[in-house]
Amino acid sequence: MGSDLRICIVGAGFSGAVIARELADKGYRTLVIDERSHSAGNCHTERDAETGVMVHKYGPHIFHTADEKVWAYINRFGEMMPYVNRVKATVKGKVYSLPINLHTINQFFGKAMSPDEAKAFIVSQARSDIEEPQSFEEQGMKFVGEDLYKAFFDGYTRKQWGVEPSTLPASILKRLPLRFNYDDNYFNHPYQGMPKDGYSKIVDGILAHDNIEVRLDCSYESLEEDFDHVFYTGPLDRYFGYDIGRLSYRTLDFEPIRAEGDFQGTAVMNYPDPEVPFTRISEHKHFAPWEAETFEKTIAFKEFSRNCGENDIPYYPIRRLDDKQLLEAYEERAANEDGVTFVGRLGTYQYLDMDVTIGRALTVAEEFLASRKA
Ligand code: FAD
Ligand code: UDP
Repeated sequence: MGSDLRICIVGAGFSGAVIARELADKGYRTLVIDERSHSAGNCHTERDAETGVMVHKYGPHIFHTADEKVWAYINRFGEMMPYVNRVKATVKGKVYSLPINLHTINQFFGKAMSPDEAKAFIVSQARSDIEEPQSFEEQGMKFVGEDLYKAFFDGYTRKQWGVEPSTLPASILKRLPLRFNYDDNYFNHPYQGMPKDGYSKIVDGILAHDNIEVRLDCSYESLEEDFDHVFYTGPLDRYFGYDIGRLSYRTLDFEPIRAEGDFQGTAVMNYPDPEVPFTRISEHKHFAPWEAETFEKTIAFKEFSRNCGENDIPYYPIRRLDDKQLLEAYEERAANEDGVTFVGRLGTYQYLDMDVTIGRALTVAEEFLASRKA
């Protein structure tokens, strides 16, 4: 019987919550712990006391997916409001549209090109000698050519990742579309939305089950109980006490800006110029357009990125091209660790969006349940 097993899930973010719920629905009791005093991990949202605005405490989160199963799953636990992410960038004192689209190209080069003309123009700009781009820099040069690359990607990426773009994988830039029309939707996915009552409400709904015990302010290291199985969504290297070294992460600092009315007129303004110390400013009431007008005051955050120190919150796994060896050594140990499944953005040291996180957690739970039947 499933309910006899002692199962611990480390982390009450989307990964941990979804696994707990899938197991709970099949009769397995789990203990979910998190060392923070709230659930939802880095997706945590709460209303700011002064303005009433729903703030994404660990940076802006927009839900987008092509996975119908995941879209149905999130809608089961909360109302998703229509939301389209539209990002702007201030470059050398001028505002442009992102992701790079026909408007950006025409604005930047001072032209009025048609889609076909712009395509031919970008091909003439792009570095055709790079066949299979390996690094972020090669991908950028091949993708949009040097001028656009330098204006929009080079400075931003150096600030965001703190390393030479030639040492970062091409996959980071492959996340972004390039369009030859005026569509400025930041994402290509068919489903996109924002939870009406925030992400934490959704995660709490996932965790609300008689078979799930949630213990906050509790670190895995402080637990004295024994378990038959552990699902670990914390940092992979931390599980092993960092004994062969630390995987590199970037952390973020958020500097609040409080103002009357509207601060920047949009949710996200990127600042790619290298002279500007922060990467972007996000104004959180614009993530909730259905209620934005009701707030008299506003709160925005300047976002600064830096290397993650021992006591900082790990945000982005860096995954430098030359950083693979240490990861592989940890991965090998993780694969051989009996009774522990490593999951999530930190547990697998990967750059995972929320939809992928939920999809993977569903698969991990399904595999675990299947292994119990076998
Ligand atoms: P987490 O949310 O990090 O949860 C892990 C939890 O484990 C944490 O609460 C932590 O406190 C806890 N924990 C760790 N170690 C221990 C331990 N030893 N003991 C006890 N507890 C522990 N995704 C999108 O889809 N759209 C976006 O717009 C988007 N924007 C993002 C912006 C930023 C700045 C960042 C950093 C990420 C963004 N993401 C976005 C990704 C999203 O945050 C992740 O997909 C999601 O948080 C992964 O969930 P998780 O449960 O795997 O990890
Ligand atoms: N990027 C950039 N300039 C921008 C926006 C993004 O150079 O104006 C790069 C940057 O390296 C970033 C990556 O593209 O890490 C992916 O962008 P995304 O907006 O997906 O980043 P996230 O929301 O995950 O921080």
